[in-house]
Amino acid sequence: MARSAEVEIRGSGSSWSVFHQGQQLGKPQNQYEKACISAGVWERRLSARDRACLCCGAQFTSYGIGHRMCDACREDARGAMV
Ligand SMILES: [Zn+2]
Repeated sequence: MARSAEVEIRGSGSSWSVFHQGQQLGKPQNQYEKACISAGVWERRLSARDRACLCCGAQFTSYGIGHRMCDACREDARGAMV
């Protein structure tokens, strides 16, 4: 699984930073809550990569292991279930 995309939040007081594999991502935040939001954004960004669609083979930006079809095929799949 894509555990490499996991980030962690480190800091204290009014300085919180998002880390990934020991590297700081972006600027420190002054509130833990803000760092949490930032961590979510980074996690999504880090797990995104180009994959080939399972249905048509087109390259598209996948945001995770459960996201394996391009937008056009996802639309088709939704339509087929109705
Ligand atoms: Zn497709």
